[in-house]
Amino acid sequence: MKIVNFINGKWTSTDDLQMIPVVNPANGEQLAMVPLSTKKHVDDAVAAAKKAQKQWALVPAPKRADFLYEIGFKLKEKKEYLAQILTKEMGKVIEEARGEVQEGIDMALYMAGEGRRLFGETTPSELADKFAMSVRAPIGVVGLITPWNFPIAIATWKSFPAIVAGNTFVWKPSIETPLMAYEMAKIFEEVGLPNGVANIVFGTGPTVGTAMVEHPDVKVISFTGSNATGSKVAELGGKHLKKVSLEMGGKNAVIVMDDANLQLAVEGIIWSAFGTAGQRCTACSRVIVHKDVKAELEERLVSALSDITIGDGLNPDVNVGPVINKAALEKINHYVQIGKKEGATLLAGGKVLTTPPFDKGFYFEPTIFTNVKNDMIIAQEEIFGPVVSIIEVSSLEEAIEVNNSVKFGLSSSIFSQDVNKIFKAQRDLDTGIVYVNAGTTGAEIHLPFGGTKGTGNGHRDSGQAALDVYTEWKSIYVDYSGKLQRAQIDT
Ligand code: NAD
Repeated sequence: MKIVNFINGKWTSTDDLQMIPVVNPANGEQLAMVPLSTKKHVDDAVAAAKKAQKQWALVPAPKRADFLYEIGFKLKEKKEYLAQILTKEMGKVIEEARGEVQEGIDMALYMAGEGRRLFGETTPSELADKFAMSVRAPIGVVGLITPWNFPIAIATWKSFPAIVAGNTFVWKPSIETPLMAYEMAKIFEEVGLPNGVANIVFGTGPTVGTAMVEHPDVKVISFTGSNATGSKVAELGGKHLKKVSLEMGGKNAVIVMDDANLQLAVEGIIWSAFGTAGQRCTACSRVIVHKDVKAELEERLVSALSDITIGDGLNPDVNVGPVINKAALEKINHYVQIGKKEGATLLAGGKVLTTPPFDKGFYFEPTIFTNVKNDMIIAQEEIFGPVVSIIEVSSLEEAIEVNNSVKFGLSSSIFSQDVNKIFKAQRDLDTGIVYVNAGTTGAEIHLPFGGTKGTGNGHRDSGQAALDVYTEWKSIYVDYSGKLQRAQIDT
């Protein structure tokens, strides 16, 4: 199958373009060919989006929202079909793939509701016979750049608030996972979204992504991906005075206090460290444990590993699938070798799986390091694989300090049954998301999603907060006194 761009409501020919294979990371099977588009395709897509936006902004928001309802219903109708494709192209296990499609459905229905809200403010004027209000105004054409680890959910977090608010968009999905974007384009066509509102251009970051960030008619860039790329996008976007929203990496920790329900903590750690093979931005990468329960927690964690089945995520008995590609496998392995050299103790795992049935895919054993010191590289850098580091502490204050000592600030969690500790922790943990008695993953779409410090630049995906990325505030004053009134002067 050949994937083609979706520009101005049309499937555009890509015969003249170089194509590269899309590969199933579970077994190396070729799923499709994806084109490496050029700047010209970005220019075409932006021109279509710009033209469509003028009309789209005039469509009443509840009518724009009707398209989102239809998109949500289509996603629901196709949920199983999409989940199967998602697992094949990205590798996450089928249950998680269904969950990811569900996230898209939830986001469609939630943002469709915004069509009848998009609340602004009405507020008294300081002058008589004068009315004051603020409204959200669309910005124009927005550029969406997304990673491979949530090929559909992240795109819905960005595109749905963008279009309900009256913008149009050009989306560049990751070259690793174009199939979900292709399926989304089919849905946009099936629900009759007006031409040019949604445009998808496939290609590499340096070519297509850069062209989007540099394009003068793209007013907003919403990016999710690694810090290395995010900083390039921010630099270039800054040069062109773009509004740039960045959601980047994490080094998320679970804190386990001495009064924790240890069995619950083990379940939370295993799910958030090894689910999606550790390739979630919110994955648990560190366990910060009180010294009095460290030995027992370690024993229980190692024992829990025996319940994990690794393999092709389409098999319902599998709970840890492959990592995305060979480069990811090598990067994870590289960090594991660093951990060993740094003097951490390898408690479990640590190897690339190379024998059948794993030899055709990209599989890494769920890995636990212990006796990890906070200044070790494996305790500080994002590994983005099924590797977790256990760090011992003696108090809640120390646990919070260790949690906050990394450059990222996405997600954190505390297991404790002491309400005083829990409330101090939720106040002092310097992350955009805090979980109590749950692992570091499990965000819901109606709350803001994003992180502090090096994880982002102050914007949020999801929830009401996402609307701030895709709208400008406009303050409107209506004077019905029939005379000139001067604010701050006439009393
Ligand atoms: P990546 O940075 O390699 O790529 C992300 C996107 O940027 C891709 O579409 C890529 O093609 C594009 N890109 C690459 N170079 C570019 C350039 N010069 N200009 C413009 N675009 C460019 O990230 P990835 O490997 O796809 O994803 C994994 C990373 O994403 C991890 O660091 C993870 O933590 C992060 N992530 C963050 C969140 C969050 O919400 N905070 C969610 C998911 C993933």
